[in-house]
Amino acid sequence: MAAYDDLMAYQRTTEALSQVAGRLGWDQETIMPRGAAEQRSEEMGAMEEILHARRTDPRIGDWLAAAKPASEDQKAQLRKIRRTYERNTKVPADLAAELARVTSRAQGVWAEARGNEDVAAFLPILGQVVDLRRQEAAALASDGNLYDALLNDYEPGATGVEISELFGRMRPRLVALRDKIMGASNQPDKLVGQFDADGQAKLAETLALTFGYNTDRGRIDRSVHPFSSGSGLDVRITTRVSESDPFNCFYSTIHEVGHATYEQNVDQAFLLTPLGGGVSMGVHESQSRIYENQFGRSEAFTQFLFEKMTAQFGTLSTPDPWAFYRAVNRVSPSHIRTESDEVQYNLHVMMRFDIEQKLISGQLDVADLEEAWNTQFEADFGVAVDKPSNGVLQDVHWSVGLFGYFPTYSLGNVYAGCLFEALKADIPGHEEAVRKGELSAVTDWLRDKVQVHGGLYGPKEVIERATGSAPTEEPLLSYLEAKFTKLYDL
Ligand code: ZN
Repeated sequence: MAAYDDLMAYQRTTEALSQVAGRLGWDQETIMPRGAAEQRSEEMGAMEEILHARRTDPRIGDWLAAAKPASEDQKAQLRKIRRTYERNTKVPADLAAELARVTSRAQGVWAEARGNEDVAAFLPILGQVVDLRRQEAAALASDGNLYDALLNDYEPGATGVEISELFGRMRPRLVALRDKIMGASNQPDKLVGQFDADGQAKLAETLALTFGYNTDRGRIDRSVHPFSSGSGLDVRITTRVSESDPFNCFYSTIHEVGHATYEQNVDQAFLLTPLGGGVSMGVHESQSRIYENQFGRSEAFTQFLFEKMTAQFGTLSTPDPWAFYRAVNRVSPSHIRTESDEVQYNLHVMMRFDIEQKLISGQLDVADLEEAWNTQFEADFGVAVDKPSNGVLQDVHWSVGLFGYFPTYSLGNVYAGCLFEALKADIPGHEEAVRKGELSAVTDWLRDKVQVHGGLYGPKEVIERATGSAPTEEPLLSYLEAKFTKLYDL
């Protein structure tokens, strides 16, 4: 037992320090004084140095060799630690340091290039990021598949081939549905008006509590891009407020609450251990998506939201619950992934997946990236890209080296579809409760079936245990087809 206990004690300190580093990041995005940026970057660099040294400490290898797990939980802890340790020690230290340095600079270059609509200013450093990630992937890949090596950081066990096949099955049905919707004669009206910021913030907090967010162990602040941060007993979220677009605030809040409650509801026996957080980005996204879409954008929940908004802001431009529900789910051509509706969202992801695979395999050079993007966007969405901030410069991901991350968004949608189907069968009266803003039955189901397990099971395994069958795209596609057929009277 000694080796296992020593390893877990060591690991606990590393996890605690990693939470501290995360909180520095939270502070930077929310309340840090502007003039502190330079010092903060040095502080965070120092934390990263300590964390990297701890995560590659050779004693971990010795403990792993000597540890004798006494339970399934302990076996899972060791599996997770071994995986991370092997990953970190395969990458040469100078490459890891160079990647950290270049990506932190590239993010700033990307933000400035996007502000100036200047793709050329971003491409040289993006080329460096791609090159370094390719080197890293080569160090990690046991079978020579660079893309899979990167994908595995975010979705352990997933492969590019498997995702290509999944997307190949999803794409034609999504495109057919989108085309029918665009051709429908009764297009929904948009919600228009001005909605004061304080009223939105108040209602956003009500929504967060409705979806089970524990503000005794969390808090809601504002940031430019909404996010959730932290694990265990301190899980924070941020939101943003636009007075002309209250759905942005409400639905990003519900989305982040999905991520945050996952972290809050992990079994506390796993607190500050490698199993103490969500198992993968895909499963994480399934929680945020099911809260946001299958519940938040349902006819039942939008009736509750309609009443809350009418009470807060007075009569709405969409004067009845059905018109309001249609406004929430309006499908329209959009250049921007994050503003996309449920029908087109996965098409945006598929396009990024196609392009980033080519960048990592070397089939596409960054010099040709903008043209590749614009050509494929017009083919996939029927609209030309008007400016780089609406095109290839819209997402931060590639600048910070996140290749292999995008597909996890769609995996999350697919998993959410599976979970929703199983949940409906287990809780027959859920719609009537949701209509009244009573979500505890559905959030308890997700807590007990998925969230409480943290990192104990693999991504597909946790979904299969919750639903009784291996995840497929069918429940998501059937749900979307049924929902939008009714909504647009197709
Ligand atoms: Zn998310």
